[in-house]
Amino acid sequence: MTVKTATAKIDLLALKNNLQAIKDKASNSKILAVLKANAYGHGLERIAKALCEESTFKDAFGVARIDEALALRNAGIVNPIVLLEGFFSAEDLAVISVNNLETVVHNQQQLDAILQAQIDKPLKVWLKVDTGMHRLGVSPEQFDGIYQQLVASQNVHVDIILMSHLSCADDTSSSRTTDQADLFERLTSDKHCQRSLANSAGICAWPETHYQWIRPGLMLYGVSPMEPELSVNAQALDIEPVMTLQASLIAKRKIAMGEAVGYGATWVADKETHIGVVAIGYGDGYPRHASNGTPVLLNGRIVPLVGRVSMDMITVDLGAESDDNIGDIATLWGHGLPVESVAQFATTIPYELLCNITRRVRIDVV
Ligand SMILES: *Cc1c(COP(=O)(O)O)cnc(C)c1O
Repeated sequence: MTVKTATAKIDLLALKNNLQAIKDKASNSKILAVLKANAYGHGLERIAKALCEESTFKDAFGVARIDEALALRNAGIVNPIVLLEGFFSAEDLAVISVNNLETVVHNQQQLDAILQAQIDKPLKVWLKVDTGMHRLGVSPEQFDGIYQQLVASQNVHVDIILMSHLSCADDTSSSRTTDQADLFERLTSDKHCQRSLANSAGICAWPETHYQWIRPGLMLYGVSPMEPELSVNAQALDIEPVMTLQASLIAKRKIAMGEAVGYGATWVADKETHIGVVAIGYGDGYPRHASNGTPVLLNGRIVPLVGRVSMDMITVDLGAESDDNIGDIATLWGHGLPVESVAQFATTIPYELLCNITRRVRIDVV
């Protein structure tokens, strides 16, 4: 008997196809591929190298932390790398300069640090303005003054890139994206700079936000960034999941009507059935909040999760007629079962499920 413990298949061909699908949607834009949080759980160096193998990928990477950028440099990645939150201390500027990193500037403190830095070559800067997200970015009132100070500084490369971030691009009925795009256009149109506004949802639904640089994250990994209600699924976007999470059935038992399953005895069978145990749990990153009925794919059909998710196991309702066997492989999400649907049953978003894959999960690159 061999069974599979939690395993994430990483399909690099799917990644490359998704890259092409993104290019097709914004053919005049360069790509800043977003690799933060271990490339959304897919493996930072692995994903970066796979993208670099594509002869058409001459573009840049985006990360959230300087350590992520240094890991890419250590892996031999020479493409531009942008620190999407900028830097967190003035000492980082020496590291940024030596490693040829580019940095977002989103506040006065970062500006001051750059103006005062002792560096021997100008830094590439992405100036971020807050157009309505109200998270990062200099205010529209500060924007012009800060831009002029960057332009005047010897420490700053002449090609400043102007950027902002969209708060509601996944919702095509919201007027906020248009408001943000209008404000961004108004603030930046006279500056003769390259510009960047679109995340994955902007790429899919708002062509006016594409500009010279698009910043896809989720879409690269083959997951729809649009609100589930819109039914703009991965297939409609011509993308396919890069990660498929699987584990084997390790036990099967018959239970009578009225019997409870799992911790807290929270689920009770309303008729005789078979319960299957799959070797994955919250210790692997499967969401503990997944509710009864969360879909699991087994032998070509959906078997609903029943009872609480344990650390190392989940229980599923195989039905009275089940002819499933120990060792059969269940898919928790990926090919055949979009992580988007699982996320809805766990009252979260696909981003969180992908990032939360733990170190215990085996990686199988295909
Ligand atoms: C994470 C991030 C992105 C990518 O967002 P997706 O929704 O995954 O495409 C783009 N831009 C910035 C600034 C980000 O932080």
